[in-house]
Amino acid sequence: MRVVRLASEIDFAGWRAAARALRAEGVEPQAVVWTVERELFDVDAPAPSRGGGGFTVPATFVELAEQVIQHRSADRLALLYRILWRLEREPRLIDNPADPDMARARDMAKAVSRASHKMKAFVRFRLVEGAAAETYAAWFEPAHRVTEATAGFFVRRFTNMDWTILTPDACVAWDREQLMVSEGADPADAPSEDAQEVLWRTYYASIFNPARLNPKQMRQEMPKRYWRNLPEAALIPELIETAQERAAAMVAATPRQPSDRVLKAALRHARDASYEGGVPTSLEEIEAGASVCRRCDLWRDATQGVPGEGASQAPLMFVGEQPGDHEDLAGRPFVGPAGQMFDKALAEAGVVRDRTYVTNAVKHFKHEPRGKRRIHKTPDRGEVTACRWWLDAEWRLVKPRVVVMLGATAALGVMGKPTPIGVNRGKVLQLPDQSQGLVTYHPSFLLRLPDEDAKARAYAQFVQDLRLAGKLAGL
Ligand code: SF4
Repeated sequence: MRVVRLASEIDFAGWRAAARALRAEGVEPQAVVWTVERELFDVDAPAPSRGGGGFTVPATFVELAEQVIQHRSADRLALLYRILWRLEREPRLIDNPADPDMARARDMAKAVSRASHKMKAFVRFRLVEGAAAETYAAWFEPAHRVTEATAGFFVRRFTNMDWTILTPDACVAWDREQLMVSEGADPADAPSEDAQEVLWRTYYASIFNPARLNPKQMRQEMPKRYWRNLPEAALIPELIETAQERAAAMVAATPRQPSDRVLKAALRHARDASYEGGVPTSLEEIEAGASVCRRCDLWRDATQGVPGEGASQAPLMFVGEQPGDHEDLAGRPFVGPAGQMFDKALAEAGVVRDRTYVTNAVKHFKHEPRGKRRIHKTPDRGEVTACRWWLDAEWRLVKPRVVVMLGATAALGVMGKPTPIGVNRGKVLQLPDQSQGLVTYHPSFLLRLPDEDAKARAYAQFVQDLRLAGKLAGL
């Protein structure tokens, strides 16, 4: 009997090296015992193989094995070696879903993938009180050992935050430069509830859709085992209790959901710019379509598509350039520093943002990495033209009386041609659908002006433009 001891439960490199060597030696699966004992690592590990026994495994097996090793079942290592052993004589085994070993491995891979998905959806960071710098931590108990493999998602999503995810299997920490992995933690190591959670709960209550309430499905999607990690879970009983009343109010107050046929057409539009099918008939449909859009390449490096938001029949529509770093993470337009300046100017102009519709000419964040930061890049004409399909759809549905273009890219998106701000600012333009157009500065331009006097002058003009827009729109 050969005993192989791996360095950790998910030591795929160790398993792979040992499996290759055992295979090369001709050691049959039933003659191998796989264990994980850190201190004793390597005691009985076979010598590295030279040449791996003369056969190579399909890349799909390696991908499958990398997932299966994260499963919690004790027999996963033996199962993988058995499949590896059989692959030499049965090269088509990997494509046989009816084979019991393959079926079990595929089930395990699916369960691991589900666990990773749940982790992405249900990790909630909390501010660590008393830390020297702003830092966040989250406690999570994944169904399988997916922490390290899923950490990359959080690095991409929260690149500019210091964070740690504590799990019983392993802890991963990101300091904006490096990802560090350490031993699993105790739940007591997680920080307690803080103000961030109050904000999160408010947000959850505002997006909770009682008309779609299905407690059974809710338990499947958000299993109770995760509830204690979720700030919003405290709201669930009350939300369920008041769901009926709120559903009736929603039916009366909100537009109908798009039909499956139209939604499918929107998704096809999103994926294939040459598709000529139906057009979106609701803002929900645009939201769904923009998030899966592939009409240009900007989706590749962005976290998510950011559709417009606001009153569905607003008399005044603002169009910006594209989501920035903050908007890309939040999934909402104009919430970062430029959004704060925009809100301040709106307030000074006497325009209530909730009564307007705010969107961007381009729905995905175009940027390039520079050190720890993601630096904004202006979308090119092709990208603005590709995304105009969504902007036109929003425009058609919202039917604003006035469209304000914030900056040159917004003007290109709305007008379909370059429309310089300097010569057009302050003029009321006639738009093809008989609405009126105004061009003005983008708030980020104001933020970037180095000279304080010039900034104050431009800001005053910006407020004046917003005031005129509000007046034309009757707000
Ligand atoms: S930027 Fe616009 S066109 Fe390009 S992928 Fe995103 S939503 Fe689609």
